[in-house]
Amino acid sequence: MSATGRFDAGEAWALAADAADPLAGFREQFLIPRQGGGEVAYFCGNSLGLQPRGTREALAGELDDWAAHAVEAHFRGRLPWMDYHEFVRDDLAAVVGALPSEVVAMNSLSVNLHLLMVGFYRPTAERPAILIEKGAFPSDRYAVESQVRFHGHDPASALIELEADAADGTISEATILRALDEHGARIALVLLPGVQYLSGQAFDLRAITEAAQARGCVVGFDLAHAAGNLDLALHDSGCDFAVWCSYKYLNSGPGAVAGAFVHERHAHTARPRFAGWWGHDKGSRFRMGPEFVPTPGADGWQLSNPPILALAPLRVSLALFREAGMARLRAKSLALTGYLEWLLREQVADVVEIATPREAQRRGCQLSLRVRGPREAGRALFEHLQARGIVVDWREPDVMRAAPTPLYNRHVDCRRLVAAIADWRDAHR
Ligand SMILES: *Cc1c(COP(=O)(O)O)cnc(C)c1O
Repeated sequence: MSATGRFDAGEAWALAADAADPLAGFREQFLIPRQGGGEVAYFCGNSLGLQPRGTREALAGELDDWAAHAVEAHFRGRLPWMDYHEFVRDDLAAVVGALPSEVVAMNSLSVNLHLLMVGFYRPTAERPAILIEKGAFPSDRYAVESQVRFHGHDPASALIELEADAADGTISEATILRALDEHGARIALVLLPGVQYLSGQAFDLRAITEAAQARGCVVGFDLAHAAGNLDLALHDSGCDFAVWCSYKYLNSGPGAVAGAFVHERHAHTARPRFAGWWGHDKGSRFRMGPEFVPTPGADGWQLSNPPILALAPLRVSLALFREAGMARLRAKSLALTGYLEWLLREQVADVVEIATPREAQRRGCQLSLRVRGPREAGRALFEHLQARGIVVDWREPDVMRAAPTPLYNRHVDCRRLVAAIADWRDAHR
């Protein structure tokens, strides 16, 4: 029994908690991989979310429309292809807490990051710098560094990296504020994650935005690990832009079409951008004129006509999010991750150390685990779990990530993970 009495390590407690879960039925909507005659315990929704049952049928429907109508499906399909991206807009906006006109589903994450930096990273001689976190996801690091070089600046001085300073290896709010005080006048763009992919730390989007904008910086967020994980309020945060992918918590399949957010206050401003015909004003797009007139809002950042086969899975997935609601998902997520954390501390604290912030509001569902002892031990434990149908992931050099996602994970899955870690300890030490 826990000190607080909130949790209990027994199986009966986990089963009862799952039975009492109002969102438990959503698990049925997903295809759970099997291994050794049973379902795996899947903790990799932060990397590739599971396939919703409805995805195959939605894809087949688009293939059928293509077969039956060919080009006419742009107008005559059950969901006409012409404005297909609009079918996901409202649900996408709801997931990230934005106005519908502020979001668009297009391209992939790294592409959107570059496209929006074209508009929102406008370095000058006095203000050339980008502020990111040290140890950022490689694609983000490559993107900002190449943008800095593209504008003729030197990353050695124009890339400022926040160092983790807290005892738990995360970045404190004070460090962010200190960096803004020290370098704010030189910073053109602050680009931080909503949830850091390796540590699982969640950032306060609104506080960062206010502090950075007060110093004249533009603010963008990479929400790869936050979209569909945290109950975001992107519009209210006031940030200038954001990007995310849809194959992680948003369960839209490998390489799924990504998302972008452009704050309403930029809807009508003439910013530099790389233009394409699908960003052109919808009313006159097919007059095929030579002059680009952007659609106001996020839609104006599109280049190409919508990828129907990539958008169909996103549409299916977002319908599940609409039904569940981000507020309810986050409430379950807090309980589930809180339970996993408690079990880990209670039962296997001698094996793993949690590298994700302890405070629930400073993390999403993911817990990053460092295995105590020699490096090889972490890898060995990871393989032990794999062999038992427990799917976590391994990130070099020494982090194992486990993300109980509220749409399809259960308390019994968390219990199975911790029991397998305990078994490994008992067999090997
Ligand atoms: C997953 C992830 C990416 C991946 O980028 P793609 O363009 O989708 O391949 C980039 N950045 C972050 C922070 C991520 O978590």
